[in-house]
Amino acid sequence: MIVENIIEKPETIVPRPNLQDYDEMYGTFEWTSAYDRVEWNDCGRLNAAESAVDRHAESSLKHKVALYWQGADRDEKYTFLELSSLSNRFANVLTELGIEKRDRVFIFLPRIPELYVSFLGILKTGAIAGTMFSAFGPEGLYDRLHDSGARYLITNSSLKRRVYEIRDDLPDLERIIVVDETDVAEDEVSYPEAMKSASDTFDVAKMLPDDPAFMLYTSGTTGKPKGVVHRHLAIVQQHLTTEWVLDLHDDDIYWCTADPGWVTGISYGILGPFSCGASVVVHDGRFDPDVWYSIVERYHVTVWYSAPTAFRMLMRAGDIYKNHDLGSIRHICSVGEPLNAEIVHWGMRAFGLPIHDNFWQTETGGILIANYPSMPIKPGWMGKPVPGITAAIIDDDGNEVPNGVEGNLALKPDFPSLMLEIWKNPAKYQEYFMGGWYLTGDRAVQHEDGYFLFVGRADDVINTSGERVGPFEVESALIAHPAIVEAGVIGKPDPLRGEIIKAFVVLGDGYEPSDELESDVRRFVKTRLAGHAYPREFEVVETLPKTRSGKIVRRMLRAKELGLPVGDVSSLE
Ligand code: ATP
Ligand code: MG
Repeated sequence: MIVENIIEKPETIVPRPNLQDYDEMYGTFEWTSAYDRVEWNDCGRLNAAESAVDRHAESSLKHKVALYWQGADRDEKYTFLELSSLSNRFANVLTELGIEKRDRVFIFLPRIPELYVSFLGILKTGAIAGTMFSAFGPEGLYDRLHDSGARYLITNSSLKRRVYEIRDDLPDLERIIVVDETDVAEDEVSYPEAMKSASDTFDVAKMLPDDPAFMLYTSGTTGKPKGVVHRHLAIVQQHLTTEWVLDLHDDDIYWCTADPGWVTGISYGILGPFSCGASVVVHDGRFDPDVWYSIVERYHVTVWYSAPTAFRMLMRAGDIYKNHDLGSIRHICSVGEPLNAEIVHWGMRAFGLPIHDNFWQTETGGILIANYPSMPIKPGWMGKPVPGITAAIIDDDGNEVPNGVEGNLALKPDFPSLMLEIWKNPAKYQEYFMGGWYLTGDRAVQHEDGYFLFVGRADDVINTSGERVGPFEVESALIAHPAIVEAGVIGKPDPLRGEIIKAFVVLGDGYEPSDELESDVRRFVKTRLAGHAYPREFEVVETLPKTRSGKIVRRMLRAKELGLPVGDVSSLE
């Protein structure tokens, strides 16, 4: 456990929000006007790694700490200048190996500094960086490395064993770069050795805005993960949304808890915050409430970006936040799943701050809809579209529906961080578009005040007695009960009602399943939900099936309940 503080505690001053007047900015903003906010070269070229790190290495921020790295029993820090030089070295290592533009280079590492260095180094060469969770097994690795045709893989001595289980089935994979070995096999490269002899200057590849920079696979919540490719231009949106939504200022110490195997860990764990010149905390370790609070305390984290699943687990851990001085935190954001109002209220009690929900997807590369520090939040609502984003609710024919009516959440596909392609699958890519709209695959409602409410994924919406019910509404009612920390709700075929609602619930510490508890929960949710939205079946479970990015996988609950095949499980926890 971490006890002592690593840096002197600064005075917590709450700065003026970067985005002062949402309405005015929304009314006037155009993306092209913001292009010069990131570093551009002559002839309209850029490189996202240069925009993120190198330009600060040449400015007054050069000796500012860019990365505070916290491992299990030691820590390290890197300035912008150091990150820039190290990623230059790695870019030289790849060049030496004969890398070419558009080559896929995948990273299979825990959250160690080499992950960040190599990610930036790959971008600098013009190749495509791919990321994977270090918890993936051979099956998850095979799907990604084979589909992407990765030419190089960066990993460590213990993880590489999983790669060797499938090595023979990966004809495109030429070299495995091992970060912690000096004595390596013939088709391997020793990272420490190669880095030692590489130059720390590099002529960064000048890319066209639409050239690919990184790719990763979606979370796999609804089915087989899709290979999403992002372009260098995406940095414009990652930069501005970091400024507006995460509200990073010069003095902030920012902690994004997401792993770069998930898009949040790239867009808001690397590119967005570094491009804003922020100091980023990275914790290489498993979730543990006490350790997490210690990290906030140790680094005096001021801005914190995490996910509902983590906040629910912290809520479940109860009062232990009282053992820590969390007074440095001034702004908290959440993404990945609907943020139940109950968690926002808990955040107020625990941190004295509301948690700001925001919505986006792997495919959109950056935040789309958000609650901003300068705007009142409505607990349970996702907020309003980012300036530059046109969001609407449309019916299945592509017509906009009136406020208050549920429909498909759609966006005008004219924003810089929208994906470039689904790797080797143009047909899948086309499925996202209809009548000039990009379809998120999510169902939502817009209120007349402009706020959006998440209803559910299109696949998860339940049809019961002729009424449509979103799982989010039912799950939120359930977790408002003191005994319930998590809930996953599905529709179960029923001869009379079409579907009935079944709820799987996880109880908090100190609660045991009993008939009394069940009746109490039934009474409790009845007062909060319309009759048709009331779950007719309850089941207490130890855990809910989740993806590596922490999302409840309702298709698994359905498959198990109905005895159907479970489908792709490569990205499940
Ligand atoms: P797959 O596309 O492989 O099924 P996935 O959709 O979970 O997986 P991600 O791109 O990581 O993969 O997640 C995006 C989805 O997460 C959104 O489409 C939405 O369903 C959900 N989501 C993200 N943020 C929010 C939010 N703030 N509120 C509600 N849902 C959210
Ligand atoms: Mg998705």
